[in-house]
Amino acid sequence: MKRSDFLKSLAIIPLASCMSKANELGKFADNLESTETLPVLFLGHGSPMNALEENEFVTGFRNVGKTFQKPKAILCISAHWETRGTYVTAMDHPKTIHDFGGFPKALFDVQYPAPGSPELAHETANLVKKTTIGMDEQWGLDHGAWTVIKHLYPNADVPVIQMSIDYTQPAQYHYDLAKEIARLRKKGILIVGSGNMVHNLGMVAWDRLNDDNYGFDWALEAQQKMKQFIQEGNHQALINYNAQGKPFQLSIPSPEHYLPLLYTLALQEKNEPITLFNDKAVAGSLTMTSVKIG
Ligand code: ZN
Repeated sequence: MKRSDFLKSLAIIPLASCMSKANELGKFADNLESTETLPVLFLGHGSPMNALEENEFVTGFRNVGKTFQKPKAILCISAHWETRGTYVTAMDHPKTIHDFGGFPKALFDVQYPAPGSPELAHETANLVKKTTIGMDEQWGLDHGAWTVIKHLYPNADVPVIQMSIDYTQPAQYHYDLAKEIARLRKKGILIVGSGNMVHNLGMVAWDRLNDDNYGFDWALEAQQKMKQFIQEGNHQALINYNAQGKPFQLSIPSPEHYLPLLYTLALQEKNEPITLFNDKAVAGSLTMTSVKIG
């Protein structure tokens, strides 16, 4: 096909649909004009039972939600959605995923029917240049997302999309990728990383579940160092977590619960304040420590 024919063929039907899509997206971006930059959160989600229980961590989630304007939508990076390549959920109505076992039926009965936002999914993909973000129609909201977001917005009236964690990529990739979506913060989008900084399920002291702030020495040491690096803005040390010695190795036996923290930190602007909350250890090998930036 000659170039001129090719251009003509583009001009027939697809152009019209491209145009309307572009207008739609343009309109969406306009709708997202925001006067103030929204904070970014890292939420330590811990046990799925936090969806149902009344405890200090749930109170912490609720309280942090009251410190800023209601967002137009939420983009959540959850530890519980790992894929090859990076995807965003792009359906109108994401289902509530009960991706766990051995919990009471009451937890499986919980629904969090927040709408999705295909527009935000496309807008996110458009912002990212370092990779092609895939549109996902199958996932939904996993428990890393809904068990915590439900405490911020119990009426499920804020649209939520998820962005997956590409398990084939190193920590630096995730940190750099997050920087590319920074503009969303100025468009009324709340970005939430959901995981746990210290998360070693194999070493959980099940008999100490109800002890207040019970952490093994290595867990407390790693947690202390992580907080220090966060407060100092030493993100490179956190990206190089593998080089931080035994306490970090025990605290991060696999990276999926830790990486959402890097997405959150990457979005910190110069001199933006950091607030830590829910700063406690649970059952020896988990920490609930959560971060608000901005
Ligand atoms: Zn989890």
